[in-house]
Amino acid sequence: MNFYIVLQNESFDDQYKPGYLQCPQKDSLGNIPHYFSRMINLKKGDYIFHYANGSILAIGRVKSSTYVTQDESQNYPVFRTLVDYDLLSYPLHIRSHWEEISNLIPIEYSPFQKGGRDNNGYLYPCDDYLATLLLRKIGIKNERKNLNKALLVTETKVEAQARIGQSVYKKQLSELWNHQCAICKVNIPEILKASHAKPWKDCTDREKIDPYNGLLLCSHHDSLFDSGLISFDSSGYMLVSDTVSNANPPIFDVSDSMNIKIFNENLKYLLWHQSYVYKGNKSP
Ligand SMILES: [Zn+2]
Repeated sequence: MNFYIVLQNESFDDQYKPGYLQCPQKDSLGNIPHYFSRMINLKKGDYIFHYANGSILAIGRVKSSTYVTQDESQNYPVFRTLVDYDLLSYPLHIRSHWEEISNLIPIEYSPFQKGGRDNNGYLYPCDDYLATLLLRKIGIKNERKNLNKALLVTETKVEAQARIGQSVYKKQLSELWNHQCAICKVNIPEILKASHAKPWKDCTDREKIDPYNGLLLCSHHDSLFDSGLISFDSSGYMLVSDTVSNANPPIFDVSDSMNIKIFNENLKYLLWHQSYVYKGNKSP
């Protein structure tokens, strides 16, 4: 199951009414551009963001494979795919959300140019992150059958990818931290976690997979670190929030005299953690 963005513009009405996507096989020079030939990849169950004149107007569900046919009004063969259109009550205007969307636009094969205007062409890929963002934005105002299902599917897919990424990441972190909790040195793999200092949601793609943006921690220390109840200063000394210091009964294995051996590369991420995640008083 994949997502696509189709730039229909003035052909939207002609294609929406009979319920299909359609484009020529070749351009006027006889070339086969990727945005036409991509039609062949469409599969039953794929989702389509239908874009026309600045906005996404509908979300569609592909219901047939692509086939070649003769268009009634044209004298050349075309690609055609049957699609269930679900018209949005509130279209999503791309340029109004450009700042967020632009972060997720691929460099190659982007349906939109800088500033959010549409490119030439027809069918473009849309990865799960972009799809999730578009669906969220659309979902704020619209409540649609297709939409809810699509949102659920993307979130599950994105999570699954994240899990795969997470296991590779954990392996790298394990090696960096000698297969033991950076704080208490417990070395049971089942309870060790790759804990991000700068949270995933705030990271650039590079930061997400940078092993130095993480500490290998046992479940106990991971949950304290992740929830911002402990942090570390630039010398590796533990910062302990009042919630933890005043806990009764006391929380074990936390103390501001504890020190971990940090790498220089960890510093910027730990500073971020201390500034934005940590809930206690900042270090001087
Ligand atoms: Zn630990």
